[in-house]
Amino acid sequence: MKHKIFLKSKKGFFGTSKGKEHAFGGQYMPEILYPALQELEEAYYKYVLNSKEFKRELRALYRDFIGRPTPLIYAKNASKILNNEIYLKFEGLANTGAHKINNAVGQVLLAKKMGKTRIIAETGAGQHGLATSAACAKLGMECVVFMGARDIKRQFPNVFNMELLGAKVVSVESGSQTLKDAVNEALREWSKESKNTFYVLGSTLGPYPYPDIVREFQSIISEEISRQTKNFFKGNPDIMIACVGGGSNSLGFFSHYLKSSVRLIGVEAGGRGKGIGENAARMDNPNAHLCIAQGYKSLFLSDKYGNLLETYSISAGLDYAGVGPQLAHLKEIGRVEFLSALDSEALEAMQFFAKTEGILAALESSHALAGALKIAKSVKGQKILVNISGRGDKDIFITAKALQKERWKEFLTREIEEMQNHHTKQN
Ligand SMILES: *Cc1c(COP(=O)(O)O)cnc(C)c1O
Repeated sequence: MKHKIFLKSKKGFFGTSKGKEHAFGGQYMPEILYPALQELEEAYYKYVLNSKEFKRELRALYRDFIGRPTPLIYAKNASKILNNEIYLKFEGLANTGAHKINNAVGQVLLAKKMGKTRIIAETGAGQHGLATSAACAKLGMECVVFMGARDIKRQFPNVFNMELLGAKVVSVESGSQTLKDAVNEALREWSKESKNTFYVLGSTLGPYPYPDIVREFQSIISEEISRQTKNFFKGNPDIMIACVGGGSNSLGFFSHYLKSSVRLIGVEAGGRGKGIGENAARMDNPNAHLCIAQGYKSLFLSDKYGNLLETYSISAGLDYAGVGPQLAHLKEIGRVEFLSALDSEALEAMQFFAKTEGILAALESSHALAGALKIAKSVKGQKILVNISGRGDKDIFITAKALQKERWKEFLTREIEEMQNHHTKQN
């Protein structure tokens, strides 16, 4: 039987729930949020899908604020070594350094059209918070970012930048004090105050209509690609590869190709290996179960009672227990294949493409590159497109520690000493 590919949700669900197939997604939220979600759904249809003016304004922001289109680069040196044609879509050149701004700008513009004056958002490592803060600064909106207390300590540079951009970062002290607690707190705040407040969600997950809204804003990536490939070859690429956290960069990258015959591959975080709490790979993992959590039904790393498990990845952006419902559907019907890459493989791929192509990819994106290195070994002469969802500047605290520990330590020690000396001199 040939399965229907859901390009968008039907009444909030992806998949038919016939036979062995599941319907992923939905809107499993406390009743108090129904009016806010309904208002959001109506605005999504009215502005995002059907308003020419909205589309024109968004395009202008994409071009003049984000710096789109981002380039599609032929990776000539890597292609030679890997016996395939490798192309890189470089989302890392977008303002704030990653694809997340495509969605943040779209949602903040939508909020403005709806007459909202205040934005709230959740953030884990801070990338989505950073993008949302920048979008709010540009569009003149008040911005409050919820962030786990533990994450605030670990991610000082992003917190610092969010505050520079004018956002208020609120420390969430409950639970594990990380991303999932920040999501809960943002939802709690939204259920208290939704009249003037809009909740900007960062990936293709959460309750309907967010998975559709976020994919719609991110699909600018594949729309550009379908034009840009014409500079290099006729027709479609053979293989497309992206990393998968919640699913926003991969779905945006795959969007225009879901109905084609292009081989689509998602790469998850294999972390340190297979054990519980050692990775964030949800596909083909015995610890992944169909669960309803944080407003949607999908695959989550959980215990048999449905409690979410701890996850781990060297890349903060992939370190999450759930995966977007549309990707769970595309996996189930076999339209998208999934691999995982270990921390060490991502680090290696990052260095390979830095040296051969002059591109410093984010650690998240380096998982996609590691996937490309694996796939390239099994095929020849194929046109392989890889999405570089972000650039690697933000990762220096992790990569330098992993690759040149002693020199990094020396550098940090010197910085601290200098600060202390300066302090003594001032006194
Ligand atoms: C957040 C992030 C990701 C993972 O999120 P998705 O929603 O799966 O795209 C990947 N790459 C970068 C650079 C990120 O910041």
